Amino acid sequence: MALLIRGGRIVTATDDYTADIYCRDETITRIERGIDPKGLPPGTDVVDAAGKYVFPGFIDPHVHIYLPFMGTFAADDYESASKAALAGGTTTLIEMICPGPADEPVAAFELWRSKAEPLAAVDYTFHMSVVRFEDAVRGQFRDIVRAGVASFKVFLAYKGALNLSDEHLFAAMKLAKELGVIVTAHCENADAIDALQRALLAAGKTGPEWHGPSRPPAVEADGVHHLCTFAELLGTHVYIVHTSCDAAVREALAARYRGVNVWIESVIPHFLLDESYAARREFEGAKYVMSPPLRAKTNQGVLWNGVKARAISTIATDHAPFRFHGQKDMGKDAFTKIPNGIPSIQERVDLVHTYGVTAGRLGLQAMVDACSTQAARLFGLYPRKGAIQVGSDADLVVYDPAFRGTFAQECSYSKVDYNAYEGWERQGRASVVTVRGEVQVKDGEFVGTIGRGEFLQREPTH
Ligand SMILES: [Zn+2]
Repeated sequence: MALLIRGGRIVTATDDYTADIYCRDETITRIERGIDPKGLPPGTDVVDAAGKYVFPGFIDPHVHIYLPFMGTFAADDYESASKAALAGGTTTLIEMICPGPADEPVAAFELWRSKAEPLAAVDYTFHMSVVRFEDAVRGQFRDIVRAGVASFKVFLAYKGALNLSDEHLFAAMKLAKELGVIVTAHCENADAIDALQRALLAAGKTGPEWHGPSRPPAVEADGVHHLCTFAELLGTHVYIVHTSCDAAVREALAARYRGVNVWIESVIPHFLLDESYAARREFEGAKYVMSPPLRAKTNQGVLWNGVKARAISTIATDHAPFRFHGQKDMGKDAFTKIPNGIPSIQERVDLVHTYGVTAGRLGLQAMVDACSTQAARLFGLYPRKGAIQVGSDADLVVYDPAFRGTFAQECSYSKVDYNAYEGWERQGRASVVTVRGEVQVKDGEFVGTIGRGEFLQREPTH
């Protein structure tokens, strides 16, 4: 298997230049100007990238695919999610393993792996959720780290379902520090949310527009502060997922200036959708219920500028697909029963390109950094992933910045029945996407091999 990508403008987190890239088998082996195809082995696949960008494959460090949650299951499987990811230029996924508090951690890890292995067309790895941490199960987390999962996930939210007691949170973060494992965290104060939800429902405020008021910015900022206090005491490296608002970003940055090893992720819905979407009539707002909730529009500039300043490390999705009909409507009578999530796995990169880069909010290198390279660095995948270097995996995106279209559910591979960005203008598209040297997407269509994706073993690096 050999592949030559000719004449593209190679854009990485640090570089911007024009050259040819030659991939042999699964790896980038040459990057030079003017590689002569005549000198290459017969059968070499040649892609003309003139006038196009060539990016390292994008990484989504926060997705849910197999997900039992709020009495139902997320709608995608690895086949649909892989196709959607690849069509949008994403070649590596990091999925959250989210067992229930009664489940055995190792059994959950094996279950999640078994869902991915036969169907993944992207490479993948996991963050291991710690939703229980009593003495009897602690050894299992060491085994999971030894098996190549070098990051944990903890929930400060979802009282009674997923959140840890402070005693167990402290102990889990202590183990993470000992093992050199980074802890990703959903930061919202679970008890405050619980009390606010009860009060709203008791007052007859049951529609999706009340989801936001049940978890205001102060609740998120408090969660960030709490996590960072433990990180400060223990030295654990922490990564705050889906940071949605100015107040939470400020708490994280304040902790960073105290010396806490904290990184910030934000997710694409929070950059582009504001709280008015969750207030749409006829229960339409349910499509836009996620946690933390969509915020006041003023927060969006903070997020874009945070990425531009590289204070926010990553733009992920928190892809959690639930159908409007039959799933979101489980919460018709109470917003607390609406399954949370705004699916965006296919749209993320094109949205960042359209509304970040071409709108003048971000440079191309900041886009690559936030959508690929930082995730690789933080989660032990660099420079195998997130880079265009000799020796890196040949995960490449030949990107056509001149493409014009619209976002639409009918173009989506995800199994949901709506698109949160329906009808929005779109500028740019992945023309060719490769995973370890094999073409998986052409002109936005999946043409690859289901099951080709590999589990990426990661070493602790923190
Ligand atoms: Zn999530």
